[in-house]
Amino acid sequence: MALQKVSDRIYADTDGKNGGNLGAVILDDEIVMVDSGMVHNLSRKVRQYVDETFALPILKLVITHSHSDHVFGAQAFDPTSIIGSVDMRKVCESNLSGQWKIDAIREYVKPVKDERPELWTSLDDLEIRIPDIVFDNRLLLGREKEMTVQLVGGHTIGSSIVVIEPEHIVFVGDLIFNGSFPYAGDPTCDPDRWIMGLERVEAAEYEQIIPGHGPVCGQDEIARHLDFLSALKERIKHALVEGLTPEEFLEKDLLPDHYAEGADRRSYSTVEHWFDFYKAVGDSHAPP
Ligand SMILES: [Zn+2]
Repeated sequence: MALQKVSDRIYADTDGKNGGNLGAVILDDEIVMVDSGMVHNLSRKVRQYVDETFALPILKLVITHSHSDHVFGAQAFDPTSIIGSVDMRKVCESNLSGQWKIDAIREYVKPVKDERPELWTSLDDLEIRIPDIVFDNRLLLGREKEMTVQLVGGHTIGSSIVVIEPEHIVFVGDLIFNGSFPYAGDPTCDPDRWIMGLERVEAAEYEQIIPGHGPVCGQDEIARHLDFLSALKERIKHALVEGLTPEEFLEKDLLPDHYAEGADRRSYSTVEHWFDFYKAVGDSHAPP
C-alpha cells in the first residue's frame, strides 16, 4: 500500500497490489474515498494512513463501477455511505445472488490462491458492501460542490468518473488501464459509449488523470486508449463482414498491438464480447 500525493488534497494508491486503484479526496470537513480495492485487509492499511494523517472522518466512498477489484475492499471504510450509479447498484444486486456468493468467489479466486495469498485469506471474512446512495446521471459532493460524480458507461453499464475542481483532476475508473490491455469483456461493456466517454474526457483536458489501473497519467494515454479502442472496433466490424470468428480473429493476429501487457488475460473475453456487440448492432439495422 502506498497512497501517493497527486495534489494537495488528492491521493491515490496505484501500485496494483490491491486490484484496482483507489484514492482519497480531502475536503474541508470530510474525506471522500474513490473506489476501495479488492482486498479489504490491504484497504484497511490505506484507511489507517488516512485516519492518522488527516484527522477528518471518511464519510463517503464513491465506487466507480461494479467490478470486484474496486468493490470488495469497501468494508475497510465502515461505517460510510457508499455512492454509485443506479445501474452500478443494479449489477451489484444481481451479482450478490450469483457470482458474488462466497462459494462462487472462492472458485474464481482459487486458481490464483498461491499468487495472491492475501486475496485468498481476505475471503474468510469478506462482507460485500454495495451503494446505499444512488444517482441517475450525476451527483455533486462537497461544500462548494467541488466534486462531480458523472455516469459515463462504456467499460460497464454503470461506470462513472469523478472530477475534482479547481484542481481539474479526474478519477476515470476503468475507462483507462494505463499501459496495459484494457478489460473490455464485461457483458454490459458498450464500446461505442466507452469511446464517446473518453472523447469527452480528452476534450476536458484534465491536469491529471487517475486511471482504474496503472499509474497516474496525462492526455497521451487517453489518446492511446482511444486509438486502440477505435482500431479494435474497426477491425472487429471488418472481421464480422468477412465472417471470421473471435478465435480466427486472434489466430490471424488482428488485435491492434498497442498493449502487449495484459493481452494474454484480457483479449479473448474482450474480442468475444465485441463480436457479439457489433453483431447485434448489425442485426438491428435493415440490410442496405
Ligand atoms: Zn473494471
